[in-house]
Amino acid sequence: MRMAIAFITHADCLKHEMGAHHPERPQRLTAIDDQLIASGLAPFLTRFEAPLATDEELSRVHPLDYVRAIREAAPQQGTVHLDPDTAMNRFTLDAALRAAGAAVLAVDLVMQDKVKSVFAAVRPPGHHACRARPMGFCIFNNVAVAARHAIHAHGLERVAIIDFDVHHGNGTEDIFEGDDRVIMASTFQHPFYPYSGTENPASNMFNVPLAAGAGSRELKEAVREVWLPALNDFGPELVVFSAGFDAHAEDDMAMLRFTDADYGWVTAQLKEVAERHAKGRMVSMLEGGYSLSALGRSAVQHIKAMAGV
Ligand SMILES: [Zn+2]
Repeated sequence: MRMAIAFITHADCLKHEMGAHHPERPQRLTAIDDQLIASGLAPFLTRFEAPLATDEELSRVHPLDYVRAIREAAPQQGTVHLDPDTAMNRFTLDAALRAAGAAVLAVDLVMQDKVKSVFAAVRPPGHHACRARPMGFCIFNNVAVAARHAIHAHGLERVAIIDFDVHHGNGTEDIFEGDDRVIMASTFQHPFYPYSGTENPASNMFNVPLAAGAGSRELKEAVREVWLPALNDFGPELVVFSAGFDAHAEDDMAMLRFTDADYGWVTAQLKEVAERHAKGRMVSMLEGGYSLSALGRSAVQHIKAMAGV
């Protein structure tokens, strides 16, 4: 009998820091761990350590020149900035390789039928990372590594990426636009960083921009009216989440008004899609979420809904 759900993380992801006041901070992972324990969910999760992604796995998404440039940028000490928001300390390279490696392991676990679904609590996040450009706290595009691994190593022909982070996953769109093996369904605040996702999105992108102040009602409309018809039409063999929790009402990063329960609801909708088309296979990679309490609670609702408990 396969275990219901796996949890992948790694201590290296706690050592990556971008400065004393940077919102994308190690405490995000401990906040999730704390709420898993407080909620009583922790004993139901089987924990795995994230491996380091290989150049071959990364090269399905990023040119090897880009991977090499990131390796070369990694400092021995101090901090190096890759863009105004994204920096590396001496632990960042391994953290980024583990975050992408978690995506690979997560796909292997569900495809080998060892677990039904996986949540990866890793950082740096990935959905702003473009083919050859780090951006917005992201270095390697973890969900893209997951989707391409499912296609190349496991022979899948249709993968859906679901992105409910408050920011548009411009990196994921950059990587998959025109790739008809992948569709991306997303909600995000607009107009807002990174100011993309509304001008001529590719035909495999189902983007739903939401105005500041939008909440549960608008999320549910987007899922029912746009996401679910597109997903059921496509019939994904694997559902991959870009699981950002910064659209929560308590998160100061942006101005959407999602609740803890919304994350459970949207996940339950996608669980139905996964069970109908994908043998229940779901892989979820942490993206944003900067209010520590709301992040931990929302992640618990998301993981509970994936596990069906
Ligand atoms: Zn975000």
